[in-house]
Amino acid sequence: MRRSDLTRILGPARTRRWRAPTGQTPDIAILGTGFAGIGMAIRLKQAGIDSFTIYEKADRVGGTWRDNTYPGAACDVPSHLYSFSFEPAPSWSRHFAPQAEILAYLERCTDRYALHEHIRFGSEVTSARYDDDTCRWELGIAGGPSVSAAVLVSGLGQLNRPAYPDLPGIDDFAGTQFHSARWNHDHDLTGERIAVIGNGASAVQFVPKIAPGAAHLYQVQRSANWIGPKPDRLYADVTKDLFRAVPALERAYRAGIYLSFESRFLAFRDRDGAASKLFEKGIRAYLRQQVPDPELRAVLTPDYPVGCKRVLISNDYYATLQRDNVEVVTDPIERVTPDGLRTASGRDLPVDTIIYGTGFDSTHFLSPLEIVGHNGVRLDEVWRDGAEAYLGMTVAGFPNLFMLYGPNTNLGHNSILFMIERQLTYVLQCLRSLVDHDLAAIDVRHEVMDRYNDSIQESVRSTVWNAGCHSWYKTDSGKVTNNWPRFTLQYWWDTVSADLDDFDQEPARTHPRRRVAATGSG
Ligand code: NAP
Repeated sequence: MRRSDLTRILGPARTRRWRAPTGQTPDIAILGTGFAGIGMAIRLKQAGIDSFTIYEKADRVGGTWRDNTYPGAACDVPSHLYSFSFEPAPSWSRHFAPQAEILAYLERCTDRYALHEHIRFGSEVTSARYDDDTCRWELGIAGGPSVSAAVLVSGLGQLNRPAYPDLPGIDDFAGTQFHSARWNHDHDLTGERIAVIGNGASAVQFVPKIAPGAAHLYQVQRSANWIGPKPDRLYADVTKDLFRAVPALERAYRAGIYLSFESRFLAFRDRDGAASKLFEKGIRAYLRQQVPDPELRAVLTPDYPVGCKRVLISNDYYATLQRDNVEVVTDPIERVTPDGLRTASGRDLPVDTIIYGTGFDSTHFLSPLEIVGHNGVRLDEVWRDGAEAYLGMTVAGFPNLFMLYGPNTNLGHNSILFMIERQLTYVLQCLRSLVDHDLAAIDVRHEVMDRYNDSIQESVRSTVWNAGCHSWYKTDSGKVTNNWPRFTLQYWWDTVSADLDDFDQEPARTHPRRRVAATGSG
């Protein structure tokens, strides 16, 4: 391992960065201001590139950390690892920072790098069409004129479209209803009868917060989840002072978290392996300790291996389910009535409010936007049988389009920020190739992408995700389109350098209008 590579893993890159020659960089459109979009913008700035515009549908930055404001929202990855290595934050208040603190961190990054002047708020990109003549992307913006860019970088990620259950009668409900990712803060839940549909990562955080004030809460559970303890704690002032005074200490701490999380992949990669069995044993012990009643424990015990769905962590969810005013309902919901929910066995659950903790439309990635690439090919057609991309970033037939946190780059065992940072580096390398080789466009070769995805699906085969559970990691037909099925160190290695031989190249000189050299941003 080279020293420069080690530095990239352990903390802020101190290696000499590529600086783009002035006036020679393509104009770049970035979609979204979550961690991916903001991270891309920072890395561009650090490379001396100003020719970019970020399109954001909302009126402030933050992505999922702006949208998910439900009570108790917090990250389940330690904050020192769930932040940019190139923008360390030594002052996190606790091990798992709450949503407001993470959002403030993203806003601080935006200010520090003067990104506001690059962001067009209230601009939802609805379509992207590649023009073969000009080698440029034409972007449709809701309610506004279209714009164009030489390079398109999507920072939309995997969890930005709330999914609602397809229940008959849902529009006839007379009470209040909302999704956990669109929390209605104007509505007071105190003293109400509440139904929460879904018991995933979001629900285990907000149910313990709202149950104590409710008259009654029905927790509707379609399938149980594996839940472990949450080793949360406040950081003492002296620790924060130390991290501030000795940045290397914070980096070492971060590296320690990274390596311990990385080792968890051993339990996920082989669902029949010893590590997987050991993990399950530990988590079963936690369930036994938390839920003494064997009947309720049986209801809360999943019927699939640990990790097949995201492993959740909570210190108060099991206790909440054992409150007198809380009931776990496993009878499937047949319909919504004006007064509440009706189950398949004909039982009526009268409620004032229904909260949908039903997750996100995760497997379609970019395709709900109308994306049309080279020769008029449509992304939703290409992804008919499930999304795939080369390294999760580029799709053959869609030149100069890069996705951050795209297909098969989600993690069940480590911080997604690690993957995103690798992608930022890779995209920068591709931009550098465009400039250095005077190219108008690069387009990953079909055979490179196909070979890569065959090997990804081969690696997926023995993992826990393939064990027969239903999860947001896979399509309805069972193809795992979301998760990275290897150690993240492997992804680091795969993205160390972008190889131009993997791409078809469109020289700028063959057509003067195809030159990517920018004249300004966006
Ligand atoms: P989720 O994990 O996809 O959970 C959705 C829940 O809704 C599941 O329990 C699911 O049941 C249930 N559900 C969906 N449709 C249903 C229907 N028609 N009828 C009954 N139940 C239905 O969604 P999420 O909790 O919002 O979390 C999504 C992801 O966001 C997480 O896995 C995580 O990656 C991220 N997240 C992270 C944090 C964090 O701390 N960093 C916090 C929240 C979310 P089944 O299990 O049976 O499908």
